[in-house]
Amino acid sequence: MRRLTILGPFFVPAPLSVRFAREPHRVTSRASGIYHVTPSSGPRVPRPRREALARGLASIVGAEHAQWREPELLVYDADGLVLEKFWPDLVALPGSAAEVREVLRFAAREGLAVMARGAGTGLCGGSLAERGGIVLNLARMNRVLAIEPDDRLAVVEPGVVNLDLSRAAARHGLYYAPDPSSQMSSTVGGNLSTNAGGPHCLKYGQTHRHVLSCELVTADGDVVRLGDAAPGGPAFELLSLVIGSEGTLGVVTELTVRLTRVPETVRTFLVSFDTVETASRAVSDIIAAGIVPSALEMLDHLTIVAVEPYVHVGLPLDAGAALLIELDGPAAGMDRRARQIAELCERNGGRDYREAKDDAERALLWKARKGAFGAMGRIANGFYVMDGVVPRSRLPETLRRVGEICHERGLRVANVFHAGDGNLHPNVLFDPDDPDQVARALEASHEILRACVELGGALSGEHGIGNEKREMMGLVFTPADLDTMRAVKRAFDPGERLNPDKIFPTGAAPWRPAPLRAAGSEAAWI
Ligand SMILES: Cc1cc2nc3c(=O)[nH]c(=O)nc-3n(C[C@H](O)[C@H](O)[C@H](O)COP(=O)(O)OP(=O)(O)OC[C@H]3O[C@@H](n4cnc5c(N)ncnc54)[C@H](O)[C@@H]3O)c2cc1C
Repeated sequence: MRRLTILGPFFVPAPLSVRFAREPHRVTSRASGIYHVTPSSGPRVPRPRREALARGLASIVGAEHAQWREPELLVYDADGLVLEKFWPDLVALPGSAAEVREVLRFAAREGLAVMARGAGTGLCGGSLAERGGIVLNLARMNRVLAIEPDDRLAVVEPGVVNLDLSRAAARHGLYYAPDPSSQMSSTVGGNLSTNAGGPHCLKYGQTHRHVLSCELVTADGDVVRLGDAAPGGPAFELLSLVIGSEGTLGVVTELTVRLTRVPETVRTFLVSFDTVETASRAVSDIIAAGIVPSALEMLDHLTIVAVEPYVHVGLPLDAGAALLIELDGPAAGMDRRARQIAELCERNGGRDYREAKDDAERALLWKARKGAFGAMGRIANGFYVMDGVVPRSRLPETLRRVGEICHERGLRVANVFHAGDGNLHPNVLFDPDDPDQVARALEASHEILRACVELGGALSGEHGIGNEKREMMGLVFTPADLDTMRAVKRAFDPGERLNPDKIFPTGAAPWRPAPLRAAGSEAAWI
């Protein structure tokens, strides 16, 4: 028997202890008792064949970077979604584009699917090995190859962690602007592939605004360069196809990205409101006044209740909502904009107005926002992070609807989100030990996304489609739209080996509570 320790980002704040037994695998959590991992889990390819295939991979990436044993594979059975689990048959950790190319050629010869994977923080099951095959972990390709301050760009490998790039650029007074809340661990390759957003993308735009070109290895092992660091260009603009394509078109092995000058001044404010509606009105008024804050984030009452005892930032526990507002740019005019924001908040009932006096206090205010997902573990054993988007003006209505959907199913919901972008993240809380609650949470999440679409929004503001939302694509795209996208996929990947079964509907039911379905009454959660 072997023991491992896993930190589950969402379901279980406490370390898990996983025991490998014959069947089923038992997973014990201090917080939530004993669950059973899906009996269907485990690699599909029998052990002797895996071992043989691993020898082939080892001849490309080296024996220590070709993994095939169960404990090695288990690490890759889920991403941040953790609702669905599929074991890969093999994992390869290439060290260069040439090795990626050879792994893809090897996979083509052996008829294996390949799933690129950055840090695995994705929240839509994007890097899962639903059909088995090879997970291509790009973590070793983590070098910042060049920083060119005069041209304000950087050339990086895909496995560079987002925040590490900004740290590397800091000595030149530059940083990488797209800042998903996972920036301490998610990779620039994963960010490109999901077109990641983040709190500061309200002003600076999502990842696609910051990628100038990339090197891509296609399913057949061809290496192509898309986009150009120089402006303009007469050719097809294929880079845009790849950004946000979630690893379905090729494996990104190098990126040239735009760097942004560190702003002269940053001002950060935290304001409480009695209700989400009044806070939302303040958001609309700020934008209508022509002010574009660099960030405009909202926490609702339940999120405040989860976060405050953890960060001690002084948020009143009776507040219905709080806004975290940040301004950045030249010092000139900053005071005037800060005053305007204070007035607009006050006019909408804003109270407990607080401004960070220094960087330490700014970091504390941000901890209230960026630590919110982690803090959910204080109020529930399990939660499901949704990612819908609606026009900003429909936020109050949407949040009301989200509340109703959850209330009707006897569930609590905590909202923390990029209010300025209309990108909501309802966190549907549930007890993973209760299969009925799990089923209700899944149903609620489906209804929430349907409501976002009905209110003029879309299925994803930033997390992507993956396998989580693919069966709902028909809500927003016509069959002709989807056929056009499929034609693009086939042009890059005729054999459909790269991240198969992602993004496109397969005809299955919209939500497949796989752990319940597979394990009967004994749900499986990590
Ligand atoms: C606490 C937390 C906060 C988050 N906050 C945000 C947020 O604010 N904004 C946001 O947008 N997302 C957020 N996310 C989701 C997630 O971090 C992003 O989707 C991120 O971009 C994923 O990066 P990754 O390196 O973990 O990629 P992975 O999860 O490993 O992969 C994501 C997708 O990209 C593909 N992929 C990865 N690398 C490559 C490559 N080199 N070539 C081709 N395809 C590749 C994978 O196949 C998969 O489809 C958050 C997640 C967590 C856990």
